[in-house]
Amino acid sequence: MPSEFQEALPVLEKIKEAGFEAYFVGGSVRDALLNRPIHDVDIASSAYPEEIKTIFHRTVDVGIEHGTVLVLEGQGEYEITTFRTEDVYVDYRRPSQVSFVRSLEEDLKRRDFTINALALDQNGEIVDLFNGLADMKNRTLRAVGVAAERFNEDALRIMRGFRFQAGLDFDLEELTFQAMADCAPLLEKISVERIFIEFDKLLMSPFWRKGLESLIKAAAYDFLPDMKDSAEALQELLDSLEEEFRFSSSEQAWAALLLALRVKDVRKFLKHWKTSNEFQKRVNQLVAVYEIRQERSLSKRDCYQYDLDLILQAESLRQAAGLPVEFEAIEATHAALTIHDKHEIVVTGSHLIRDYGFKPGPELGQILTKIELAIVDGELANSKEEIMNFIKEQVG
Ligand code: ATP
Ligand code: MG
Repeated sequence: MPSEFQEALPVLEKIKEAGFEAYFVGGSVRDALLNRPIHDVDIASSAYPEEIKTIFHRTVDVGIEHGTVLVLEGQGEYEITTFRTEDVYVDYRRPSQVSFVRSLEEDLKRRDFTINALALDQNGEIVDLFNGLADMKNRTLRAVGVAAERFNEDALRIMRGFRFQAGLDFDLEELTFQAMADCAPLLEKISVERIFIEFDKLLMSPFWRKGLESLIKAAAYDFLPDMKDSAEALQELLDSLEEEFRFSSSEQAWAALLLALRVKDVRKFLKHWKTSNEFQKRVNQLVAVYEIRQERSLSKRDCYQYDLDLILQAESLRQAAGLPVEFEAIEATHAALTIHDKHEIVVTGSHLIRDYGFKPGPELGQILTKIELAIVDGELANSKEEIMNFIKEQVG
């Protein structure tokens, strides 16, 4: 049993001593069996949240309406969720109601894929009610129960399916894939934020090609924001980047996606995906840099205006696309800049107003911008004297 579970054993034991059942469940059990690194160790229990809170002293209500209590025990933090079923999916998204139950089987039944529906008890015994171990051995993703029903209940599972494929390099069992394709229209009912998280994880995964290929095959793109009829563009994304390439950041992945889709208004597209302003800004800049590089080398001004990190990410996309790259030249231009930020200019607007009788307003703004660009271009030294001479020349 991996050390993450060993450390959490006292938690299971305490729950059992209090007369309830408790198991490790979900992603950590799957990942341990696949010899992959484990993140959060989740525990499922027959104890209700109020009962968990009487067993442990240090607890936090993180999602009590879903039956989840966070327990702080030893060095660790563990989410303990009461066995539950999710009934009445009225609108193909989150269950309208969760019911707490006392049976592990009921809880495992509502999980998405068989490899995610394994439980592990305190003796290291696996509870495998849906042949998850066999599917794991065959590297297969299979829905728990009747696939079409499961994707009808919650269409997010469709995106999760592609995402797990991309993360694990598993194949989709045939009926599971067919049901994902059939239910794909229901993705329109799912919150965009939740779909973004899954799609983003897909793109960032080692086997992103595999997940994306399935998504294309299922025509699921037709039901994602602003991606109708994008089969060819997505195929181009796959074909244009070298086989081994992996995206190094979400912004790089989405920039590549948007470039392949030939999206004109990057911010509008990402707004429809409900991403943060900061994310929109960075992807927009990465796309802009990439487009400049399709025309020419980067100037000093480009290196000044854009984050070096974004520029290098754009360059590595070029590299993956088999285009010529200029990493060294870019780094050198950036390093040779006399200023990297306008706050480094030794003369400021308030200087000019206070000591030289300038008036606040657009004219002052214009002259400051001229100064900034002249310094960046290397035509003006960043010294008080030179800048004052420059102003005199400009103002006449
Ligand atoms: P990751 O390693 O990315 O966290 P995970 O399998 O742990 O993957 P989570 O989203 O953390 O995924 O969910 C934990 C578990 O809860 C899953 O393994 C699965 O059993 C169950 N689960 C999560 N989301 C759903 C869903 N939409 N439908 C059914 N079961 C789900
Ligand atoms: Mg998880």
